[in-house]
Amino acid sequence: MGRAFVYVILGGGVAAGYAAHEFVKRGVSQGELCIISEEPVAPYERPALSKGFLLPEAPARLPSFHCCVGTNEERLTPKWYKEHGIELILGTRVKSADVRRKTLMTATGETISYKFLIVATGARALKLEEFGVTGSDAENVCYLRDLADATRLVNVMQSSKDGNAVVIGGGYIGMECAASLVINNINVTMVFPEAHCMGRLFTPKIASYYEEFYQSKGVKFIKGTVLTSFDLNSDGKVTAVNLRDGSKLPADMVVIGIGIRANTSLFEGQLTLEKGGIKVNGKMQSSNTSVYAVGDVAAFPVKVFGETRRLEHVDSARKSARHAVAAIMQPETTGEFDYLPFFYSRVFTLSWQFYGDNVGEAVHFGDFTGKTFGAYWINKGHLIGSFLEGGTKEEYEAIAKITRLKPEIQDLSELEKQGLGFALTE
Ligand code: FAD
Ligand code: NDP
Repeated sequence: MGRAFVYVILGGGVAAGYAAHEFVKRGVSQGELCIISEEPVAPYERPALSKGFLLPEAPARLPSFHCCVGTNEERLTPKWYKEHGIELILGTRVKSADVRRKTLMTATGETISYKFLIVATGARALKLEEFGVTGSDAENVCYLRDLADATRLVNVMQSSKDGNAVVIGGGYIGMECAASLVINNINVTMVFPEAHCMGRLFTPKIASYYEEFYQSKGVKFIKGTVLTSFDLNSDGKVTAVNLRDGSKLPADMVVIGIGIRANTSLFEGQLTLEKGGIKVNGKMQSSNTSVYAVGDVAAFPVKVFGETRRLEHVDSARKSARHAVAAIMQPETTGEFDYLPFFYSRVFTLSWQFYGDNVGEAVHFGDFTGKTFGAYWINKGHLIGSFLEGGTKEEYEAIAKITRLKPEIQDLSELEKQGLGFALTE
């Protein structure tokens, strides 16, 4: 049993949706393209799962957040794929790949062959078991990566009203879920090993602003320690969380956000891997010329920094996917991917954006007791990163622009004095 396509997208997440949109824009013919996804639904905007999807009032539900509504473009419903002759093979896991033969084998035993493959398998959430803690499968312990996880999280949240949640991890999932839990009237304690939240991006000064804001909403922080075990009742539900520092926290539910691993396993030993992802060139092409990789699974050359990075954010998934399709369909006119890393988050009434890289010395600016503040990162005499909370569209565009220009900075105190004005006037 088998089918053959010119183009196959493996994975049905954000990158797959934007790749399909780009294929149609560039004139793919009916029957040439298929998307194979383990998920049972057409590609959607994953960021909605920790935000609109968790709202107590009028929560976002599919089909409202299918790709590409995140960039205010058309919404690709299953009907759209049908109209454009794109085969959606959903609820189907690919269990092996043979890049020499250009075939994929599904868990149902079907062989699908391709001329060009775009790997968009994203990532999986790390499990507590990988850190030696058991109990992830308890019914009130939640992870958040896909729609099924989000649906489960909503159900657990609804049965924990006015109760206690322990959130493990102080990264993106931890911060966004903690805010959503509070909005749902659940008491939240966050536990993470670092000295402050968002340890890989925020400076201590930026982090303390968000931590104080969260505390004003009732969130408690327990830092510098990790979970060691759960107390379970006779139904196998978690009732308390035990920490390495010896404390015990009562819990009606637990949310875990302790990082991800890119889904590369199908290609280990077949494609060159780097930084935990599939190594690609500036055309998103892997070490096998028929195979491209995009989104969370791709380690690509970030031209502005002159090094290979794997990014785990939606903007890079969208743009790398579009770039790969351009490189496949119009190779002569498609140059090297030239991407400025961009991360953002929205929690409560807060909203921030970050561009570039956060190495070197941070120069803070603005009013850290008010609504708008930020930081620049200066490395080897150049501004290479910018963060802004509470900016306007024009202000965010200005920090993006200045970061891409990497201007030379001679006087840090002058930069501090000019603050946001530096980006706005350059
Ligand atoms: P994914 O969207 O993860 O898609 C991968 C797809 O591949 C999935 O459908 C998966 O089922 C499928 N797949 C994997 N292996 C197989 C296989 N063997 N066979 C078949 N199918 C397979 N980023 C931001 O910048 N801002 C945000 O606000 C933000 N919020 C987020 C909120 C949540 C809850 C999560 C989980 C992530 C968030 N992100 C955010 C990160 C962003 O969603 C990811 O960077 C993005 O989804 C990556 O896109 P992708 O297509 O590479 O992978
Ligand atoms: P992150 O990498 O952002 O954060 C993981 C957090 O868990 C860190 O604080 C980490 O600490 C901590 N941690 C690691 N191991 C343990 C442990 N054993 N016990 C307790 N804490 C631990 O990953 P997330 O899980 O928060 O997010 C998953 C993915 O989803 C990421 O790719 C992220 O980019 C994406 N996402 C992005 C959003 C956005 O861009 N707005 C929103 C939601 C998700 P340490 O740093 O010390 O390892």
